Formats: sequence, C-alpha cells, structure tokens
Amino acid sequence: MKYPIRVVISGPSGNIAYSALFSLLSGDVFGKDRLIDLVMLCSCPNSSQLQGVDMEIVDCAFPCLSSHLCTSDQHLAFANADYVILFGALPRGPGMERKDLLLKNKDIFEQQGKVLNEVGKPSVRVLVVGNPANTNAYILQQNAPNIQKNHITALSRLDHNRSIGQLAQYFNVSPSEIQNVFVLGNHSNTMVPVFNHVLLNNKQCYDEIKDVTNISQTIRTRGSKIIEARGQSSAASAAQASLDHMRDWHFGTEKITSCSLPAPKENIYEVPEGLVFSFPCKCVDGEWVIQDMDIPDELNTQIQKTIDELIEEKILAQHE
Ligand code: NAD
Repeated sequence: MKYPIRVVISGPSGNIAYSALFSLLSGDVFGKDRLIDLVMLCSCPNSSQLQGVDMEIVDCAFPCLSSHLCTSDQHLAFANADYVILFGALPRGPGMERKDLLLKNKDIFEQQGKVLNEVGKPSVRVLVVGNPANTNAYILQQNAPNIQKNHITALSRLDHNRSIGQLAQYFNVSPSEIQNVFVLGNHSNTMVPVFNHVLLNNKQCYDEIKDVTNISQTIRTRGSKIIEARGQSSAASAAQASLDHMRDWHFGTEKITSCSLPAPKENIYEVPEGLVFSFPCKCVDGEWVIQDMDIPDELNTQIQKTIDELIEEKILAQHE
C-alpha cells in the first residue's frame, strides 16, 4: 500500500457525506492501493449519529483505511490535510431565502478559511459542496490567502453529470458515449449548460438536439424536482459527483469536465477575477486547467445573469 493521505470530510453524518464515505474508503477515489487517514470534522463529535457512522466504518474493514478520527477541532483537522471536502453547512430551512442561507453559512466558511490559512498546507486541495457552494468557496478563499488559489474549488460536477445524463437519455445512449458538455456559472438555477461542442461517439451532434431550451431547464431545476419526488435533497448523485471531482483532481482527466474555480484575471468568458465560477476544465498533474471553448452568442445574456448573481452574493457576503 502507498503512504497515507489525509482526507478531511466535514458534516460526516449528513446525507451526502453518508453516501460518499464508503465509496471513498473502498478506494474508488484515490486508488485501491492508497491508504487514507480519515478525519471527520463536525460540530458534535459525540453525537450518536456520528458514532454510528464511525462504527460502520470500522465494520467495513476497509483495506485502505489507515486511521479515523472524529473531531470538532478545526486546527487538528486541517493540519497536514491533503484533501478537504466541505459538505457541512446549515440546510435551507422553511421560509428561508437563499440570502438567509448565505448569511448563516458565511460564518462557517469564514472561520474554516482562517484556520486553513493558519495550519493548512498551501497545496491542500479543497472542494466546497455546502450551499451556496460557489460563494462559500469564495468566502473561504478570501480568508485563506496562503492556500494556492486554484486549489479552492466548488462543486459543479453534479450539474455537469446531470447535463450528460439528460443528453444520454435524449439520444438513448450510455452516458459514456457523450462528451464535451460543460456548465458555466453558479451552482443555482442561473447556471448555463453548454452543448455546442457536444460529441456523441466522437462525432458532433449539436445540430441534432432540437430541444436545447427544455433540456437546459430540466438540468437547472433538477435539484428541486428531486426534492419534490424524494422529500429530501439529492444525496447519492451529489456524493457521486463530489467523488468524481476528487478522483479527476487526484488522477487527472483529459476529458472536458466542469469545475468551479476562482476566475483568473484573463478568461474568455469575461468573469470578474476571483469569482468562483464553473468553467470547462481538464485536470493535468493535479491542477485544473480552464479550457477556452467558444460559446454561441445567444448564451451571452444567460452568462451575464449568472455572473451578476455571483457578484450580488459576493457583495452580500462582504457587507452583512
Ligand atoms: P445535511 O443537512 O444532511 O448534512 C449537513 C451536515 O453538516 C449535518 O450533519 C450538520 O450537522 C453538518 N454541519 C453543519 N454545520 C457544520 C459545521 N460548522 N461544521 C461541520 N459540520 C457542520 O445536508 P446534505 O444533504 O448532506 O447536504 C450538504 C450540503 O450540500 C448542503 O448545504 C446542500 O445544500 C449542499 N448540496 C450541494 C450540492 C452541489 O452540487 N454543490 C448538491 C446537493 C447539496
């Protein structure tokens, strides 16, 4: 077995984390030959729910598990971490607006950013899943200037996977036959799926999609449709997307995927520097590389809308 890597999961007894942990420890993300020092960071390490999760981890006797720890001490958790997945966030309660959620979760990410900045390795790789994921990642990044900027990411892989899933259904093929789809913008219903580069079995097929507007709308509203149907928000698909993101980050990918990253100063989508925005990316030698993929002019208004939303969230987070 290879030397252990330290992986921190926040909100470990939440729905998404519970769906992700067992696949992570079975070697699906970092390889079956990689030991994992698992740290479960939560507000209540003695909660019986978390103790139950911890018992199940022991009972799986995962060959990849090197050590496991439950703690509420962020300094202890983040010191020497290699990978951090932040699922932990307060959920949107009844009558709560997106704005209220942002303000409640802001404190969590501000504090975690400060601690990461103090004790984290500059190279630590962080994925923010807790919503509003892009702005939470922005807040974290602003508070952690010592951490490599493009190592603080937010999850847009779920929207990406949903886009592939919808096109696979449309063409009645396996998702493995669809490539070169990506999403731009915020993880919210302003996000913009982009299809004009799509390949079906390596052949251009954009002209065959007659229903782009409807498919895009299905992708944008998928989260709320799942809540309506299941009575709870998507957990397994969000967990799978988080693990896909981390696996591609660790092993690299030549395929186009979607990753939310702090926008660099120069980018063809004209996103203001620093906003955490979903870009089409490949991953090479552990670094996300934004791909310059042209988009149809008719998407410009939608892209501006998702940029404006992120600016609004950023201003709110800065001034409240
Ligand atoms: P959940 O409510 O089941 O779990 C969240 C967990 O976080 C809870 O166990 C809670 O105790 C914990 N927590 C709260 N504050 C914490 C803190 N300060 N430190 C550590 N842990 C803390 O929610 P879930 O269904 O697992 O979803 C988790 C988050 O992911 C939510 O914010 C949800 O909106 C978001 N989400 C994001 C995407 C995406 O694509 N980006 C998709 C689905 C869900």
